[in-house]
Amino acid sequence: MKTLIRKPIVLEPDGTFRETDIIIKDDKISHVDLSDDLEVFDHTIDGRGKFVVPGFINAHTHASMTLLRSYADDKELMAWLNEDIWPIEAKMTREDIYWGAALAAVEMIKSGTTAFADMYGPFMDEVAKIVDESGLRGVLSRGLIGVAPDADEKLAENVDLYRDFNGAADGRISVMLGPHAIYTCPPDYLKKVEREATRLNCEIHIHMNETLTEVNDCRKNYGRRPFEIVAESGLFDHGTLAAHCVHLDESEIDIIKRHNIRVAHNPGSNLKLASGICPVTKLMREGITVALGTDGASSNNNLDMLEEIKLAALIHKVDRMDPLAVTAAEAIQMGTENGARAIGLKDVGRIEKGMKADLVLLDMNSAAWTPCFNPASLLVYSGNSSAVDTVIVDGKILMENHELKTLDEEKVLAEAANCARRLTNK
Ligand SMILES: [Zn+2]
Repeated sequence: MKTLIRKPIVLEPDGTFRETDIIIKDDKISHVDLSDDLEVFDHTIDGRGKFVVPGFINAHTHASMTLLRSYADDKELMAWLNEDIWPIEAKMTREDIYWGAALAAVEMIKSGTTAFADMYGPFMDEVAKIVDESGLRGVLSRGLIGVAPDADEKLAENVDLYRDFNGAADGRISVMLGPHAIYTCPPDYLKKVEREATRLNCEIHIHMNETLTEVNDCRKNYGRRPFEIVAESGLFDHGTLAAHCVHLDESEIDIIKRHNIRVAHNPGSNLKLASGICPVTKLMREGITVALGTDGASSNNNLDMLEEIKLAALIHKVDRMDPLAVTAAEAIQMGTENGARAIGLKDVGRIEKGMKADLVLLDMNSAAWTPCFNPASLLVYSGNSSAVDTVIVDGKILMENHELKTLDEEKVLAEAANCARRLTNK
């Protein structure tokens, strides 16, 4: 299969842009230059008036939580989890997980996300099924709550998920182990997870230092800060994707650096739950990979990565009182190339020959994109995800001219709404 994207404006890996052609051969970008008019293609996309960027990478989410979007808002994190979210999640069936993930997939594709790192469960095989059917890339983990009565069963489910799906869907699915957080996983349980990580040679996806309460409780219970306790378990030796990292001291930043931990910054969720602001500029100065995530849709309340990119570009400016703190180009890089690195995708995140063809075409024919001096700047500060026109993953078109090709949008919306109604009796 050979596809030509004719004359779009292309975002280059160095942040510059130019008009050129892109040729996709099977799953890869085979050419980023003007093409020979004599070549024959199976499919041609008219790219004129379109801006092509690498697909957005959602480095931290809980896909099936879309079912609880707007169910409980404007609450403190622990009260929100204990009183609203966890009791409903405990009732979720296999069907709920499937349609929640399908709803997330529709929303992600329509807003230009091509890969996501998910932590949820039970029934993560249903999320894997949606990754397979939708054509997205998914890095999946079973959320592990060490204080739960069935903590060992949850770990066994994560191990099964790894055995059954790591490398599945033509390599579009990979699996990590998902110890939820220090406040739900005591040190002896972290050690159990570490033993499985060693056995499977598997990476870790964990929430770290999201709130001040979490850090203070950890110091009270264990005498040290969360990164020190988790480092002691050996978990960080396996390659780690750490979500949030809002409240860090210097010794923890040192641990992040030493263990090459990749940070998933979730500005929307951190703002909404008043968790705080991740010290992104400091982490970037230390050469730490900072990616972006939406977190679950019920703490955001959507899975729109362009909103996170815009928030990342804006909140650090006011936090540092420095308009150069995070530039538009850096924010895009966090949402694309850094995201790919953070979730362990090696040949994704840049538009160049040999990389996987995971691309988003944005329609620039609208008021928000006029005039166009700098499309990267327009993307971050002026446009929004309604400009997402065509989405390609692994060389396959998942949406063209706003029309989904792999999922039945109407059916997904209806089924997901039914599941949410039944779960909440509302
Ligand atoms: Zn989360």
